[in-house]
Amino acid sequence: MSSLGLYLHIPFCQAICSYCNFNRGLLDAGLKQRYVSALEAEIRRAPGGAADTIFFGGGTPSLLEADEVARLIRACRETFDVAPDAEVTLETNPETVTADRLTAFREAGVTRISFGVQSFDDDELKRLGRVHSAARAKEAITAAQGLGFASVSFDLMLWLPAQTRLTWRRTVDQALALAPDHLSLYLLELYPNAPLKEEMARAGWSQTPEDDAADMYLEALDLLERAGLAQYEISNVARPGHRSRHNVKYWQAGQGFGVGCGAPGPRGRCAVEERGGNGRVRGQDFGRRGRGGGPAGAVTPGATRRSPVHGLAAHGWHRSGGFRGPIRSGSVGAVRGRTDTVS
Ligand code: SF4
Repeated sequence: MSSLGLYLHIPFCQAICSYCNFNRGLLDAGLKQRYVSALEAEIRRAPGGAADTIFFGGGTPSLLEADEVARLIRACRETFDVAPDAEVTLETNPETVTADRLTAFREAGVTRISFGVQSFDDDELKRLGRVHSAARAKEAITAAQGLGFASVSFDLMLWLPAQTRLTWRRTVDQALALAPDHLSLYLLELYPNAPLKEEMARAGWSQTPEDDAADMYLEALDLLERAGLAQYEISNVARPGHRSRHNVKYWQAGQGFGVGCGAPGPRGRCAVEERGGNGRVRGQDFGRRGRGGGPAGAVTPGATRRSPVHGLAAHGWHRSGGFRGPIRSGSVGAVRGRTDTVS
């Protein structure tokens, strides 16, 4: 049997982005401490098995302290037979890290950083309610690239309000200038009650026509491929040797084990629940499933997968076979999966 992918959902964020429909809540330091303890206990109750990837998804997992990350990785290693060369991904928001914090995450056992960048256009970032600036994102990426992580990835979003072909092209060019190992490209999904929807109506911002968005996506894939970043599933491109092993499990019907209030556990329920003030965390505090889509038991296409776009519509245009698009949100029976995320 193939090795498990372990998914740990960390639902805390510094601010709530105006488009976000993930399982998340504002950071509360006390709750975070209790949550980490509850997660550790849940991991230690797991039945074990061979595992070769650990994925911290959120929320904003980089709001954890390095010693909390180390503690959770240790719990995974002491409960599961985790491969010595396991891929350990931490979803990271640029504003939460410094070179020192990134170094501490590396020393804690993180091998792969996935930044939620979304855009290198400050106006677009503001419209999304993101906390970081383009300059801050570049600074964080550059710092991570010098610290010995096996892969540094970041997410970009298109079909944003008032985004144009020109601003998207500039974002892609700036991404390429940073020579990433891996990139994820997602399209914005405006869920019915998103605050961003109201802001768009008030401000008169619109999204580019759907066919133009498709062209923008395909043009970006061409540019990235010419730069050595080949598409390996709907939303992700990578240089040779930098595909996300955890991500690939979703597309190859791999096995997973998820813990946290946004990750369905192996028994098909939230793995962490609170009943009163006993220090455990109540799943419904956060309501929805986490971004990054934690695996739950056997992960099979069209079953437990989340949207291939992080909080975004499941429009996936693929040029070379495999998953042929566009895959619309709602076409769950097709391919809906992602693990690499944005935040
Ligand atoms: S998009 Fe990411 S950072 Fe923003 S609120 Fe949602 S989970 Fe948090």
